[in-house]
Amino acid sequence: MSEVIDAVEDGRPVPVPDHVSAPYFSACARGELWIQRCPDCGYRQHYPRPLCVECGAEPEWETTRGLGTVHTFTVVRQMGVEPFRSRLPYVVAMIELDEGPLMMGDVTDIDVDEVRIGQRVEVYMLRTGKDVAVPHWRPVRGDARGGGA
Ligand SMILES: [Zn+2]
Repeated sequence: MSEVIDAVEDGRPVPVPDHVSAPYFSACARGELWIQRCPDCGYRQHYPRPLCVECGAEPEWETTRGLGTVHTFTVVRQMGVEPFRSRLPYVVAMIELDEGPLMMGDVTDIDVDEVRIGQRVEVYMLRTGKDVAVPHWRPVRGDARGGGA
């Protein structure tokens, strides 16, 4: 179970779940990061889709450990539009989940110049509504180092 923090309304766009993504965002609001796993071929995917992209079967939900590794990232230093301008500089990264899929998200709670490819990160949730939260990432706290263990 990951930490869920109520988001401060800052004007950033918030997700509007549809019938496919609603279970995902609802799990996020409970502090669980879900991905989809295909019951036929075992393929794991993110973002939520109605069908397995490998074989077309209907995917099932799987709870992740909420841990991953920075696969790649960029530091956003210029942005003329609010509310993003007020957040500069910030990091947007592709996180490789321990379960495999890549997921895009902000990396916070660290100086932007300290973020590195290969860095271990943990998810936390910013709740933007009753059944909606958005995954964010921060350096792993405690002893959860080492991928997939
Ligand atoms: Zn499949």
